Parts: sequence; structure tokens; C-alpha cells
Amino acid sequence: MSEYIKIPKKFQAIDSHLHIHKLFEEERQMNFIDGHEWYKDSCGIKAINIASLPRNAGNNMAVALYKVANEQAFAHGCIVYPESPVNPNTIGNMDPLTQYKEMMEIGFDGIKFLEGKPEIYKRNWIPVDSDFYEPFWAEIEKDGTHVLAHINDPEFFWDGDKVSDELKAKGWFYGDGTYLPSEEMYKQIDNLLEKHPSLCLTLAHFYFCSAKPKKLVDMFNRYKNLAIDITPGGEMYVDFENNHDYYKDFFAKYSDRILFGTDGDFPRCVEAMRWLADRIYRFLATDERIMSFDNNLIEGILLPEHKVKQILSENFVRRVGTTPRVMNKKALKNYIDKYKHLIPTREDYQLIEDLCKKYL
Ligand SMILES: [Zn+2]
Repeated sequence: MSEYIKIPKKFQAIDSHLHIHKLFEEERQMNFIDGHEWYKDSCGIKAINIASLPRNAGNNMAVALYKVANEQAFAHGCIVYPESPVNPNTIGNMDPLTQYKEMMEIGFDGIKFLEGKPEIYKRNWIPVDSDFYEPFWAEIEKDGTHVLAHINDPEFFWDGDKVSDELKAKGWFYGDGTYLPSEEMYKQIDNLLEKHPSLCLTLAHFYFCSAKPKKLVDMFNRYKNLAIDITPGGEMYVDFENNHDYYKDFFAKYSDRILFGTDGDFPRCVEAMRWLADRIYRFLATDERIMSFDNNLIEGILLPEHKVKQILSENFVRRVGTTPRVMNKKALKNYIDKYKHLIPTREDYQLIEDLCKKYL
């Protein structure tokens, strides 16, 4: 079946987890704003949430400018680090709490926390549950701000026999002793949640627990605001198929804890985003047998319509808001002034300057 399904309007689908890799796609001569409009229209998606990446300070700015240009867009901002590894003693007015407050003032709708991904963690090696982040988490918990967090990666990334050369070339082999073991990272999150049980935290990519869902069930029972998203990792869809009946019940029972997203990264994989939106929708809403990740077939779990709607949109809206927050241009200007020296390339710097001229 080659045709993509357009997600029916009644579900008001929100892609809760997208990124911007580059601001302009040469091939189609399309900028990121038009690119996302095209994606939404062609997939039947009502709104999108762009999650910033700590790739460089410019990504946060671009994402914020995107929100200025498109008032329908949600966005999650991330902490910017003035150096790697960062020195907590000299970070001055760029500490996580200050940055959180700046982002809220600008009008971000939530926080993207990628620092639990092993390759990112390795840059700073600062525990997520340490004093460095403590005031940041405390304030976020108090405010009830939504955090989309990428913690760990698939377990086999630590196993040299199971990581393909392709993944190794991407830097996704963590078994050489220089990365934090995944159990230790899980422990940091356990500690964090014990300290801040009300955090409105969504753990991306099923928290890489599709082979051990009991861990998620335990966490759902303890933490009322905890959620996961079902952006691939393709491995999770293989586990869903291998445990079809279990997961059919799991999705029905925890339909208020699961968020839809594709993890698309404009313009790198616009086609893949469409494919993903189609696959995830069919998996949730139909009982079709469809080609899924790594050429595995997967059977849809045919959830009742109201549960499909929870996953496709309501869970995000409940955590983040019905409409995106209004942007404060003055606060964004101040932010860009403060952090622009951290934009690493001339090219990005120029693009941000051009966008500022156009939208601020
Ligand atoms: Zn992502």
C-alpha cells in the first residue's frame, strides 16, 4: 500500500515531537516554515511542536523565531551550554534556572531536555539529579511546565555485537567504556522523580522500555503526570508486534499517558515524517497489517476512537495548553543579544540575523 492516509480532522492531531535541522531545503527551495505547513497539510495534522536541540544556541533562536512567524506552532526550548564540558562554577548568569526563566518569558511552551541522551550526557557529564539542575527542576515542577525529555537510547547501543556499522558511524555505540551505562541513567531519573514526583515529564521514545513495559507501569502508578511518547526507535514497534495482545491492552489502559509524535527533523526527513505519521495512525486506529520498521509487519491495535484522540492530541493539549503561548519579542531580542556569541557558524549567524530582520 503506497498511499498515505491523511489523519481525519476529528482527531485534531498534534505532532508533539519535531525538530529543525536546517532552516532551508535547497532541493525544493523550501524554507522550514513552508516545509512544516506542507507536512501538516499532507498528513492531516492540525498543529506541531518543535523541540529545540542543544546543537547550538542558534537552534533555540530559530525555533523561537519560528513561533513568532507561525502563531499556530508550539515549541519547547532547551538549555544552551557556553562550553563543553560546562563548568558549573563559572557559568554565571547562564545557569539552567536562569535560562528556564528566560525561555518562559520569551513564550516557549515547554522545555526539551536532551541531556539524558548518552552522547549529549558525555559532553558535560553532569548528573540529571545533581545540584546543578536542582533549582531548574524545582521551578519547573512548581510551574507545572511540560518537559519533553530524551533519556537513554535503545539498550543494544551498548552492545558491540548488536550495533550495526551504520549506527557506529553515527556515533551510536556506547559500549567502549566512555559512556554512562543505561542503568545508571535510569537511576538518575528515578532519583529525580522521587524528589519531584509531580514533574510534568514526557519521556521520549517510550523511554526505550518496550522490551520491559513493567518499568513504565510502575512509574505510571507512582507519578501522576508522567507520560511517554511513541516516536520511533523502530525497535519499539517490533516489540509491540511481538507482544501484540499485551500492548493492545497497554495502549487502551494508559491511553492518557501516551503522546503522538514523529521525531521528524526538517528538512532531513520530510518524506519519512509522512510515512511515520501514516504508520503510527494506522497502528493506533486500525487493525490493518502494515509494513513497519526494518521491514517487519505490524498489526494495528484498533483502539476506540476517543482513545486514539487522547494519544493524537488531547494528552498534549492537557499538558501544554490549548493554544501556543504568545511570544514576547522584546524578551527574545534580549535573549539573542545575550547568546548570539555562542552561534558557532557564520552561516547560522547570518540566517538568524535575516530572520530577526524579518520577524522581530
Ligand atoms: Zn527528537
